[in-house]
Amino acid sequence: MASRFFLDVPLHSDTVITVSDSVAHYLRTVLRLTAGTDITVFNGQGGEFRATIEAIRKHAVEIRVGSFNPDNRSAPADVHLGLCVIKREAMETALQLATELGVRRITPLVSEHLAVSLKTLRNRDQLWQQVIRGSCEQSGLNLPPVLEPMTDFSDFLKQTDGPNRFIAHPDQGLNLITTPLSDAPVYLLIGPEGGFSDAEVKAARQTGFRPVSLGPRILRAAHAPGVLLGIIQGRLGGLNQT
Ligand code: SAM
Repeated sequence: MASRFFLDVPLHSDTVITVSDSVAHYLRTVLRLTAGTDITVFNGQGGEFRATIEAIRKHAVEIRVGSFNPDNRSAPADVHLGLCVIKREAMETALQLATELGVRRITPLVSEHLAVSLKTLRNRDQLWQQVIRGSCEQSGLNLPPVLEPMTDFSDFLKQTDGPNRFIAHPDQGLNLITTPLSDAPVYLLIGPEGGFSDAEVKAARQTGFRPVSLGPRILRAAHAPGVLLGIIQGRLGGLNQT
């Protein structure tokens, strides 16, 4: 697969576009690409385009946009991850796994055991958006998950409905591999490093969330999305070759 680049601009076949922002710097200085190099470009609106570096200039790169491929490599199920905010690198790992596993929506949640100061989270959504786009570049996904605004845990519960609502909790719960799973939207809650509080688990259950467990070993908050979403996508056709 040719190197893929997310370009936040309108893209049309048989046109030449000029990029002069950080992408141009990355193409020119970091990757040292040269004119004539074939790449793939996408803008998150669906599909991707074959493209070729037309010219490398001092502060800009010209790209000739070629044929369009409508394939998004998306997962069929509508999975919405309620991801409690965790420390910086761990959060980035969790976002990467969630994106690579094809979730549709990600809502960063402020929970009782939040181990990060809210002050440091100001504008963190911009970094998270970059991480998600980077995972799309790496994985081949052309429709990035929607990154919702950071939300209080209790407010998020009110935004959910339907039969497929699960809270991942080590101490209790169903086996996600065998529990009934319809084709309605899926909501999955994953806790922070310190886990959910008893009150949060109680409120989630009262809202209709069912606890699911991955057994007696505790996974890092950064790694739990990979396993839980892997099981859900595996059951709902998200790991099939399209
Ligand atoms: N001491 C915390 C507890 O007991 O909940 C550990 C939290 S764990 C580091 C972070 C999150 O990952 C948990 O809140 C849960 O959502 C998920 N998780 C980790 N291990 C799990 C397991 N074995 N079963 C279900 N969820 C798990």
